[in-house]
Amino acid sequence: MRLEFLGTRGSTPISGQGYAMFGGSTACVRVISGKEEIYLDAGTGIVSARPEKDTNISVLFSHMHLDHIEGLPFFSALGQKGRGIRLYGKRREGASVADILDSIFTPPFWPVGLSDYPADITVSDLPRTLTIGNVKITHMESDHPGGSTIYRLDEGNSSFVYATDFEHGKHTKDLIEFSKGASLIAYDGQYDEDEYDDYRGFGHSTASVGKDIAWRAGAKKVCIIHHSPAHNDEALLKMERAAGIHFVRCGESTTV
Ligand SMILES: [Zn+2]
Ligand SMILES: [Zn+2]
Repeated sequence: MRLEFLGTRGSTPISGQGYAMFGGSTACVRVISGKEEIYLDAGTGIVSARPEKDTNISVLFSHMHLDHIEGLPFFSALGQKGRGIRLYGKRREGASVADILDSIFTPPFWPVGLSDYPADITVSDLPRTLTIGNVKITHMESDHPGGSTIYRLDEGNSSFVYATDFEHGKHTKDLIEFSKGASLIAYDGQYDEDEYDDYRGFGHSTASVGKDIAWRAGAKKVCIIHHSPAHNDEALLKMERAAGIHFVRCGESTTV
């Protein structure tokens, strides 16, 4: 699987001097496997995606907080006539992903509905397991206000765990179990150690906890995503050095 981290900022997009190195686009990872393109979340990172011509596109939402959906109206594939796009997410707080998207893709928030786009878009509740091409997708529930979904993508001997918007504590053991032997875990490291005390219950974690979880899970690699907009490049470089693990810049790609 080829991974492109199109958006690694959390909470809100940000730009300007001091943010150029890590970038300011919000949550989106593009996973390419053969003829399949799987997008994990549709934050503003998805705006820079340039899908291949003949691929099938699936978008899996972790949850529907704005930083994970706000790029969707500008995703170029939506404007391609006849392009098949499947959207998946869990029903939350009584509303399906289709309900939530319908309530956003409507005036006065947005001038057109999802069905008005030229692409052939379907929206489904996330099944317990899902296979897209050669990729097997499983998921677990996160600890995050309103809930969030953590995904694991397995293809052959390669596996990628997308663990964003996760607060450690209640579900740490489950995440260790879920991530056993993963090739790579992308982990929510929004806060540094000092900040975390002030933001308990906000649904995010720290790089050092991510490192520990990866070690206990026997994962080959771990990297940090969902950077706080309160942290500029200088702050993130300092956090990255202190943690001793990689903080992902927007636009980076890797293969697992
Ligand atoms: Zn988020
Ligand atoms: Zn969130």
